[in-house]
Amino acid sequence: MEMKYKLNPVVSLVIVISLFLIASNTIIYMEVNEMNIPLSSYLIVVIALFFINITAFMFLQMDYMSNRIEFSKFVLSLTFFGCLVYFAETIIIIQKPVNDALELQIKANDTAIFYLFRQMSFIILLILAIYSYKLEQSQILNGCRKIKIMVYCLFPTFIMPIIAHNLSSHNATYTFMLTNYLSGDKKAIWNIQYINALIILWSLTSYFIVKVTKLSSDIWNGMLVICLSAIMYNTFLLLLDKYNLSIWYLSRAIEVLSKLFVIGTLMNCVFVKLKIANHLAIRDPMTNIHNRRFFFTRLEEILKSTCQNICVMVIDLDDFKSINDTWGHPTGDSTLLAVVDIIGQYIGPNDIFARIGGEEFGIIVKKSSLKDAIEFSNMLRNNVKIETAKGNKYNIPRTITLSVGGTLLTSGTYSVGDVIKAVDNALYSVKNNGKDGIMFAEVNWISRDDFKREDRESDLYRLSVC
Ligand code: GH3
Ligand code: MG
Ligand code: MG
Repeated sequence: MEMKYKLNPVVSLVIVISLFLIASNTIIYMEVNEMNIPLSSYLIVVIALFFINITAFMFLQMDYMSNRIEFSKFVLSLTFFGCLVYFAETIIIIQKPVNDALELQIKANDTAIFYLFRQMSFIILLILAIYSYKLEQSQILNGCRKIKIMVYCLFPTFIMPIIAHNLSSHNATYTFMLTNYLSGDKKAIWNIQYINALIILWSLTSYFIVKVTKLSSDIWNGMLVICLSAIMYNTFLLLLDKYNLSIWYLSRAIEVLSKLFVIGTLMNCVFVKLKIANHLAIRDPMTNIHNRRFFFTRLEEILKSTCQNICVMVIDLDDFKSINDTWGHPTGDSTLLAVVDIIGQYIGPNDIFARIGGEEFGIIVKKSSLKDAIEFSNMLRNNVKIETAKGNKYNIPRTITLSVGGTLLTSGTYSVGDVIKAVDNALYSVKNNGKDGIMFAEVNWISRDDFKREDRESDLYRLSVC
């Protein structure tokens, strides 16, 4: 089954370039108009990031649960989970009222510490995910290695947030100064070296993603977008001296957009998987027509409503086993595909054509009279015979004949059991009477107690055309 699934890496690049253009134009616009982004907008963006990370974490966890072979998805989910404490702490800091310059600097410094540690945690976890992926691909990711990786994950996921918390103003014993405060300008200045270090780390991580994963799936494509966006917004932060704090806020907005892209990608992956799973659940893998489950489910649904002029048929290939026995299984398979191809030409979009057994097919079509139904099934039988005759385009070694059992539901309600019983009995009667024929039976004739065997046979033949 062909299903378009993979995003082109070029799309990711276009997304990053678009983000860059939007952000740089916004900076220019803000400078020209001397605009400042209010703190409340920043708060909204950070809260958005908090929930976006929870969503991405849950999506990746569910993806992992559905297929536990891909352990790298589990580690990847932690990259988003690991950010949550930092965001929570940042949200608390932003909401604190600021009374003087010192408090403003403490606030800026705490925000900067959580920012730096959050990025570091993300990068470490992402590298661990890339490493897990590499082991997965080499088929050497055993239980012991998984435990080791999980232990490594503990550091960036839990220990680093604790360290960051203690380095912030929460713990007066230790202080980690990342910002300087220029009282004249009333603005906090970031220590540029840390940003440079982050840019280098994000660049290396981008390189590893491309080298190790070869962007083999959309999720890695999405992670690359996150890395490239991080390089971009950290580069913008280098301009913090020149511009105002709005650049800091804007860089968080870029982060929101890049992570939203990843969530979009994850949703797409899940829905494509769902589509494939649905397809597989109702299709026969060999012939790609509907399967037995679909046939009976649909039949049940159709029978629940008042049926009018519904023709149900079961087609069985005659002496099919002998094809396998004489020419081998592959020839048997080609024969089945040829028959499906021939019959498929006469099946409309609202009809149902399913493989309900090895060489047995079920058909549900609308036919207004018994005459039409019999004509239709006779046409199928004749066409299969003609198109598999000597010298046929399918290279089938023997003419294929069909036995067809059917029933026409004119009006009223019927049970699946009764309908199938009627069709099956009609089919067996054809088989017992020389095969290569058609027989239609009325539903319920079999369940009537007062039928004697001769009556039943005569009833069958009255409705049949061979
Ligand atoms: P009858 O005319 O009474 O229906 O005889 P038959 O030989 O068609 O039916 P029977 O039930 O004796 O044998 C059906 C055979 O179909 C047996 C099985 O090996 C074969 N078969 C079932 N599914 C497949 C398949 O997917 N490919 C191939 N090549 N053979 C299959
Ligand atoms: Mg058969
Ligand atoms: Mg059979």
